[in-house]
Amino acid sequence: MTGSGGAVSSVDRDASQVGIDVLARGGNAADAAVATAAALGVTEPYSAGIGGGGFLVYYDARSRHVSTIDGRETAPESFTSTSFVDETTGAAYPFATAVNSGLSVGVPGTPALWDKALRDYGTWSLNEALKPAEKLAAQGFVVDQTFADQTTANATRFKTFPETARVFLRDGGAPAVGSVFTNPDMAKAYRTLRTQGVAALYAGSLGQAVVAEASAPHTDGTSVLPGQIRMDDLRAYRALTKDPIHSRYKGYDVYGMPVPSSGGIAVAEILNLMAAYEQRTGVSTGDVDQVQYLHRFSEASATAFADRNRYVGDVSNVPVQELTSTGFAGERSCLFDPTHALTRPIAPGVPDRSYVSTCPTALVSSQPSEGQSTTHLTATDRWGNVASYTLTIEQTGGSGITVPGYGFLLNNELTDFNFTPTQGSAPDPNLPGSGKRPRSSMSPTIILDDGKPFLAVGSPGGATIITSVSQTILGYLDRDLSLVDAVAAARLSSRNGAEGAEPTILDGPTGAGLRALGHNLVSAGTPNEIGAVTAIRSLADGQFEAAAETTRRGGGSAMVVDPR
Ligand code: GLU
Repeated sequence: MTGSGGAVSSVDRDASQVGIDVLARGGNAADAAVATAAALGVTEPYSAGIGGGGFLVYYDARSRHVSTIDGRETAPESFTSTSFVDETTGAAYPFATAVNSGLSVGVPGTPALWDKALRDYGTWSLNEALKPAEKLAAQGFVVDQTFADQTTANATRFKTFPETARVFLRDGGAPAVGSVFTNPDMAKAYRTLRTQGVAALYAGSLGQAVVAEASAPHTDGTSVLPGQIRMDDLRAYRALTKDPIHSRYKGYDVYGMPVPSSGGIAVAEILNLMAAYEQRTGVSTGDVDQVQYLHRFSEASATAFADRNRYVGDVSNVPVQELTSTGFAGERSCLFDPTHALTRPIAPGVPDRSYVSTCPTALVSSQPSEGQSTTHLTATDRWGNVASYTLTIEQTGGSGITVPGYGFLLNNELTDFNFTPTQGSAPDPNLPGSGKRPRSSMSPTIILDDGKPFLAVGSPGGATIITSVSQTILGYLDRDLSLVDAVAAARLSSRNGAEGAEPTILDGPTGAGLRALGHNLVSAGTPNEIGAVTAIRSLADGQFEAAAETTRRGGGSAMVVDPR
C-alpha cells in the first residue's frame, strides 16, 4: 500500500485502522504507535498488552536523531541466579512448569513505555491515546481464524486459571470465527490507566491486583509456582531511554535495540558478516543463487547467535562496540566455507580488538552461481517521524494468568532468562538476577539513508525475530525483491543448531541444495511459518510504502492515510 499522510503496518486490521485514525486527526508517529499498540492489546491479547513489555526505536524528524525506549519486563528484587532451580531436586524447573506460573511474571513495562513515548515524542496524552483501544475492547472485534486457533491451542492451560477461562474461553473453547469478542474488563483496565495514569499500575489498585494474582497459588486448578513481584518492584520500575545500536551496511545507517535485547547487536553482526563474506568470496550477496545466499545467511546468523549467547545479556560488560565492529566480523568470516556448512554449535568468537586482517586460509575460487506470540508495528507520519515498536507478553497467552476484573494476561517474560548456566566454564550473561531484565531477541529496526528515514522493520517470533528482520533487510537491499516480496519471502532461521525452514525452502530444491552443503533443516513448527514482519519504506515527496505479511498469521494490515 502506497500513499501519503503517514502509514501504519501491524498484524491486525482494527489496530492499523486505529493508528491511521490517529494520524488523520493530527497525531504523530508516537501517538499512532501507542494507540495501535493498545489496540493490539485488545485484538492480539495473547501476544501483547499492558501485562507485558517491549522495545521502541524512534526517529525524531525535528532533531534527526534516533533513540530507543526499553520497556522490558523486569525481575523482582528477590530474584537470584537460581530462581528457576527447584531447591528440592537441584535441577531447573521444567519449562512448561515455569511458563504457567506466577514465578515467570516480570514487572510489566508496556504502560510505562507508552507513557514515556508520549511524553518524550508524542503530542497526545495517554488519556486520548488509549480511548480507541478502550472502545474496541468494549464494543468488540470480529474473531478471525488466527485468534480462534490461538485460543484453541491454549484452552487446556487457560482452564487452569478460572479467571482466564472466564475472560477468553467460550463454552470451554474458542469463540466462533465471525462472532464478536468483547472484553469489558480490559476496557476497564484501559479506562483506569487513561484516567488515573500509569501510577494506577506502578503504585495503585491495578498494581495491587497484579501482585495479588501473580503470587496466588491458584490451588483451585493445578497448584502453580507463585510469583515474587511486590509493590516495591512495581514502584521501582522505569522505562529507560537508551542510545540505539548503530552500524553501517552498504552505505545505510542501521539502528536497532540495545541490551537487554540482543536484537540490535545480532542484526548488526549478521549484516557485517554478510558484507565480510562478499569480500572474502569476491561475489556479492545479490549475485549468488538462492542456495548459496541462504547458506551464507545461515552461517552468518548461526555465528551471531554463538556470540550473542556468550556475551549478551542485561550485564554491564557486554562488548557492544566489538561485536558490532567490521573488524570482528572480518575475523569471524574466516570460518566461512562456501562449499560446506560449519558444524554446529559454532564456538563464540573473541571480541578482543585484535583481529586478523587476512584470513589464514584462502578460499578456493568460488564463481557466482546462476542466478508467534509478540507483535510488531511500524508507524510514520507526515512530518517524517518513524516508530518501530515490538511488544510482547512472551509466549502466546503469556503466563496464562489474567488479572481479575481487568481482562489482561500477565507475561511470562522471565522465562527468557537461562534457567541454569549455558556457557560451560565461561560466565552466562543471561542468568536470572535481582532487578535484571531477561535477554530479548526483539529487533525493531530503523534504517536511514543519508540521514533520512529509509526503512523501518520488525517482527515477532522469539529468537527467530533476529533472522526474520535480517532476512527482510537483505531481501530488500541485496536480493532485488520489492518490499512486499522481501516480507513474503520464505524464511530460514539458523540459530547455531538445527535450522527451522518454511515449507517452500524445506520441501523444495533450495532445501535439497542446503542439505547437500551440510545444513540440518527442520520444519518451522506449528504453525509452519516464521515471524510476522511489518515494514514501512519512506519514498520521496512524503510518500510511504507500507508492507505487511501476505499470508503468515492470517495476513497483516498495511495502511496509509491517503492512498495514492
Ligand atoms: N520473549 C521473546 C523475546 O523477547 C519474544 C517472544 C516472541 O516473539 O514469541 O525475545
